[in-house]
Amino acid sequence: MWIRSLKLRKKAQFENFYRNYRCELCKREVFDDSYFCEACRAKLPYVGKYVCPLCGRKTFEGAGICLECKAHAPIYARARSPFVYEGEIRRLLLGMKRGKRYLSVLFGREMVPLVASFPHIDALLPVPVTERALRRRGYNQAELLADYLSERSGIPCDSALLVKRREGKEQKGLSKSERRKNVRGIYAVSDRKSCRGKNFLLIDDVMTTGSTADELTRVLLAAGARRVYLLTAASTPLKD
Ligand SMILES: [Zn+2]
Ligand SMILES: [Zn+2]
Repeated sequence: MWIRSLKLRKKAQFENFYRNYRCELCKREVFDDSYFCEACRAKLPYVGKYVCPLCGRKTFEGAGICLECKAHAPIYARARSPFVYEGEIRRLLLGMKRGKRYLSVLFGREMVPLVASFPHIDALLPVPVTERALRRRGYNQAELLADYLSERSGIPCDSALLVKRREGKEQKGLSKSERRKNVRGIYAVSDRKSCRGKNFLLIDDVMTTGSTADELTRVLLAAGARRVYLLTAASTPLKD
């Protein structure tokens, strides 16, 4: 309920509010609505057109399904992300988490075209944080992205359906199966009836191993959801 009331607060219109019309990276002045100058945009780590058809990570021409997905097929149906989680993109995403809310517009814009690549989505679901984390940070960056995408795509966003009950242990340094165990039972669905027969698109800032998305998918499917997809601003590069 606490989260629902938070949702009712006036949605900030970030679009022009924080704009200083300078490139986010080199701070040179820009003369249009872009967040990057041409030179910096050309250097951004876009995932590009060769992606794993399951996890959506950057691959190379003709590679098909990546080795990680071959070893452990994801439970979610399919994932996409505009950026590789590295370099300046990593820095900007950390900034979005640590107070620079307006960066959700920068990333949201790059994610909008990918929303249409998922069929028949009933609702966007931001990956939840615990109430404690929400109180500490004041916002959930996944929810900022989902709100923006909802506004632009017309697909409703339901920020209250998924609940994070507690923090898992630090995921860093854990193997894939350890991560999977680590996230077990920390997420729940607040209203099972709203899940039945629905297609959902999970929204988050970063996909690392995909174990969080897999666990959320497991919870949603158990509540009767039909298919679950994932859209993140960035995904970690595949190991060679
Ligand atoms: Zn620049
Ligand atoms: Zn893959």
